[in-house]
Amino acid sequence: MTQAIERLEKLFNFQSGDSAPGCVWLVGAGPGDVELLTLKALRLIKSADVVVYDRLVSDEIMAEVPSSTLSIDVGKKPGSHGLKQAQINQLLADLAASGRRVVRLKGGDPSIFGRGGEEMLFLQQAGITCQIVPGITAAAGCAAASGIPLTHRDCAQSLRLITGHGKSGEPQLDDASLAASNQTLVFYMGLKWSASISAQLQAHGRAADTPVAIIENGTRPDQRVMVTTLADLTVTIAREQAQSPALLLVGEVVRFYRQPQSAGLNAISLMAK
Ligand code: SAH
Repeated sequence: MTQAIERLEKLFNFQSGDSAPGCVWLVGAGPGDVELLTLKALRLIKSADVVVYDRLVSDEIMAEVPSSTLSIDVGKKPGSHGLKQAQINQLLADLAASGRRVVRLKGGDPSIFGRGGEEMLFLQQAGITCQIVPGITAAAGCAAASGIPLTHRDCAQSLRLITGHGKSGEPQLDDASLAASNQTLVFYMGLKWSASISAQLQAHGRAADTPVAIIENGTRPDQRVMVTTLADLTVTIAREQAQSPALLLVGEVVRFYRQPQSAGLNAISLMAK
């Protein structure tokens, strides 16, 4: 891996790091809208030596990285596998060990389905200083951008964030309490296994007509919100050709959805109105 870094240095005419040990910030980039970056994230992006980023980090956010900063794309794209998790861990450790201030930029919040925990553990074991900077997770961003509250005193007293993709594929939703109607369920990475998610929730007793919002590209200019029911979820995904990244928001709160919100408007243009 050290050789790989030397090659990168030559390729990008990149200076060697200081002899002092570097560090890694695991930084949440939020769901896509650049204005949802925290000030801390932005400050770190501007001052890092290296930014190691994922596919989910939007182009708009990457445009904030100074052109003189080395940016390394470790994301998985369709048709290419990107770096394996173990290679990413090692890359981060090697960059920091060679004295660099590394920003590991991840979509949403780094601790929520982002493998941020795995990276932090590896770095700690390697003796590298590592800090987490939280970001706005997709559930919060998508709900806000589509005008759907995640909880409501009348119909949703709790909120669960669930992975729609188990470690070896199909998710095992073996908790019967998922059927309770007074909670909102948000499935990340749920498109592929939507038929199984829908079937398992109904088998536990969740009503077939429970409303579901499929939110694609939430908070981005091309955001789409498709409202359907648990029974019709898979048909809707196929008919609308819903694409990743998308969230499945399941529960009575979806009934509050009214009309497309202005996801493309930034705070400044809204204030100017
Ligand atoms: N750490 C991230 C989640 C990573 S898992 C976070 O906290 O948001 C990747 C999944 O997140 C995607 O498959 C999708 O389900 C969801 N996701 C991320 N960004 C999204 C967006 N802008 N719109 C809809 N879903 C998104």
